Amino acid sequence: MCAAAAAPDQPPDSPDGPRGGDPWTARVLTIFPEMFPGPLGASLAGRALEKGLWRLQVLDIRDVARDKHRSVDDAPFGGGPGMILRPDVVDAALATVETAPGPVIYLSARGRLLDQARVRELAAEPGLTLLCGRYEGVDQRVLDARRVEELSIGDYVLSGGEAAAIVVIDAVLRLLPGVMGNQASGGEESFERGLLEYPHYTRPAEWQGRPVPEVLLSGHHAEIDRWRRAQAETTTKQRRPDLWARYCKDAKEEEP
Ligand code: SAM
Repeated sequence: MCAAAAAPDQPPDSPDGPRGGDPWTARVLTIFPEMFPGPLGASLAGRALEKGLWRLQVLDIRDVARDKHRSVDDAPFGGGPGMILRPDVVDAALATVETAPGPVIYLSARGRLLDQARVRELAAEPGLTLLCGRYEGVDQRVLDARRVEELSIGDYVLSGGEAAAIVVIDAVLRLLPGVMGNQASGGEESFERGLLEYPHYTRPAEWQGRPVPEVLLSGHHAEIDRWRRAQAETTTKQRRPDLWARYCKDAKEEEP
């Protein structure tokens, strides 16, 4: 276990209860440990990491490889391009964190699409383990044997799971108490109420001939709320018909 990115003087994992007093912990299994904490070490997430409000543990998968070349991959059975991460090596890496609490997730373009609802669930866990694939991916047998959840961050292909792991951790961190200070706008944000967020404006009140919408200068909070709600609904309807359909369905079901 490479703990270089972890905050100093951290207590060991507690096996009991959600967090059990311990901070939320992300464990990352990767062949590129130097990619962490990366952007997670900057700004509010980085400060929160230093303060011990969350923890990051990074394991170099090569540390559990058995041969002198520390090899982790091999050619695919059945032919085809690229290499595959070996099941025995990935299994040994997962074994090092098997008593740690929280789900084990393989970042994968074949996985279920990550959404804010899953992010909320992950924030409620004591932590998680993220397996980062490389090359053409991971041997299916170790994913099946260890019942690993597969999670995709979008319908496109990355060169490795590390960027996806950073995305998942970042999204969770925004929901952890104390991490974002009062910068997190909670229930107002995109997806939190099933809608995309309304547009934002700041000073100057007029810029390049473009004035800020009048209502935002009115100081009338109820009207501002109504305007923002209408903007959020219009944007969602135009940009994300899938979200809009779900929002309308949920609203109908909530009707008495
Ligand atoms: N052959 C794989 C496929 O077609 O699904 C793509 C492998 S990709 C080059 C290497 C690694 O990047 C994957 O094993 C996975 O860990 C990660 N990855 C790629 N796209 C991803 C996505 N959309 N979401 C999460 N992880 C992704």
